Amino acid sequence: MPPLLTLEAIHSYYGLSHVLFDVSLEVHQGECVALLGRNGAGKTTTLKSIMGMVEVRQGRISLNGHTLNRRAPYQIARLGVGFVPEERAIFPHLTVWENLDVARKRGANGQIEWDEARIATVFPRLSERRHQLGGTLSGGEQQQLTIARTLMGNPTLLLLDEPSEGLAPLVVQSIATLLQELKAQGMTMLLAEQNLALAQSLSNRTYHLDDGRIQSSQRNVE
Ligand code: ATP
Repeated sequence: MPPLLTLEAIHSYYGLSHVLFDVSLEVHQGECVALLGRNGAGKTTTLKSIMGMVEVRQGRISLNGHTLNRRAPYQIARLGVGFVPEERAIFPHLTVWENLDVARKRGANGQIEWDEARIATVFPRLSERRHQLGGTLSGGEQQQLTIARTLMGNPTLLLLDEPSEGLAPLVVQSIATLLQELKAQGMTMLLAEQNLALAQSLSNRTYHLDDGRIQSSQRNVE
């Protein structure tokens, strides 16, 4: 089977600033692939390049046979890419369930695999708090809500930008359990992380980024 997502030697820029150099990677259907690297290594830029939020001047990004280069983020989302940003952009004045409702969208093939009932099974904590305003949730619950909102768009591929960022170790553990469950349910994921233990516990393969270049890649023992 060809990979679901392929990056072939991409070079990305913020204006004149050349940030990614010759980055190539693959994500196969059902895999969890981790992108590791310290602050400023280029993890977020790689995810934003896939999402059409950063200028890719050379190289090719493809998803399921579609070239993503030069498409707008909303078009890339329609092709099946779900992006969970680092900033946890939820609506603080909407309830948990309203946050999910506004994110509802069919998948690339018109599929509806995620609804409130399935979210409630995978995210029992959110279900308990469904009438609470988003802004009153804890950091870990907001992270869960950000992931759940993205799932309501029925993505084929989930991009996660440092889901453990700023969370206490026990809360990170609950996010790890959640991502493990999504993986077990067959979700394909590309996970940018600084937390090595978390990334390695979840991923089938890892790529290591430094100074905007892939330094190494490794298949994890399962
Ligand atoms: P972090 O953990 O800080 O998010 P990261 O690995 O995700 O790290 P990036 O955010 O992709 O790293 O940053 C890669 C490089 O691009 C850094 O040198 C950063 O300073 C630079 N950079 C990021 N955003 C911009 C921007 N909007 N304009 C110019 N340079 C940027």
